[in-house]
Amino acid sequence: MIIVLKPSATEKEINHIIEKLKECGLKPHVSRGEERVIIGAIGDERQLESQPLAIFPGVEKVMPILSPYKLVSREFKKADSIVEVAKGVKIGGKKIHVMAGPCAVETQELLTRIAQEVKEAGATILRGGAYKPRSSPYSFQGLEEKGIEFLVEARRKTGLPIVTEVVDPRDVALVAEHADILQIGARNMQNFRLLTEVGGYDKPVLLKRGLSATIKEFLLSAEYIIARGNHKVILCERGLRTFETATRNTLDLSAVPVIKGLSHLPIIVDPSHATGRWELVVPLARAAVAAGADGIMVEVHLNPEEALCDGEESIKPNKFKAMMGELKKIAEAIGREI
Ligand code: PEP
Ligand code: MN
Repeated sequence: MIIVLKPSATEKEINHIIEKLKECGLKPHVSRGEERVIIGAIGDERQLESQPLAIFPGVEKVMPILSPYKLVSREFKKADSIVEVAKGVKIGGKKIHVMAGPCAVETQELLTRIAQEVKEAGATILRGGAYKPRSSPYSFQGLEEKGIEFLVEARRKTGLPIVTEVVDPRDVALVAEHADILQIGARNMQNFRLLTEVGGYDKPVLLKRGLSATIKEFLLSAEYIIARGNHKVILCERGLRTFETATRNTLDLSAVPVIKGLSHLPIIVDPSHATGRWELVVPLARAAVAAGADGIMVEVHLNPEEALCDGEESIKPNKFKAMMGELKKIAEAIGREI
């Protein structure tokens, strides 16, 4: 439930409500806005049936929550959340951020060269997988720790913050020590142990939507992370598995405005994994910006034919550069910037 306090509520009144919630076994989360304080109470609301909070001093109204997620909801927090991933790189504000790089980290030289190219074209975050969750156990599984080292070196050379996937709760400490954003991949969206683990760190998390997850399930997974204490969650729509075979997945672009209505969290779009076809990446990136996405994640490779992973959906730097010019114009047309 959400308890909206009167602008005049005193600290004593706020503490009294918090104590009552705790007494009833509920976990209070206090959000202090410019004008008023809002308390989100997590737990079994039925415990409060004999304690009508609405009549407590300082309370303006009490809203039971019908949606199963609370902390991620717009009811809990009206203003858009802005996640700062590095100094000056804030996701969820006016600026749309573009994360680009290879699917997998391959060599130091290649990674650094791609990083330099995408930076020059306007990307603000470098992506690259060191731990690769592949459908086949015989496919390239990533360079693991070595890959993280290469990412760190590419960041040192270019200044671009890095986002990389973590697939195992046991690796979170290591990845969190080096990466600027922890990526949870589509296949792990409902790995609740992993979600709870990253929720224990003060580090931005990029949570990708599962292959067949509903928006409700997607937001509940984000709730796992926030409920543990980490509020720095960025959502990513990356396409769903449908009956269509012309594309690898079907991009659910309507998820962007739908989630903007339901949640205060920033949401970005990954047109590379959504389509699995390099020639569709640019048109869908354009559409994602137009639909209100807070960012784009794109796979870029110098030589997609030789890529160890997802070459078929990777674009080359010249195409990436041209795309950035187009996205800039679309962003301006809707009052945003890139
Ligand atoms: C990725 O971004 O490297 C990736 C594997 O994406 P997804 O989890 O969306 O398939
Ligand atoms: Mn990939």
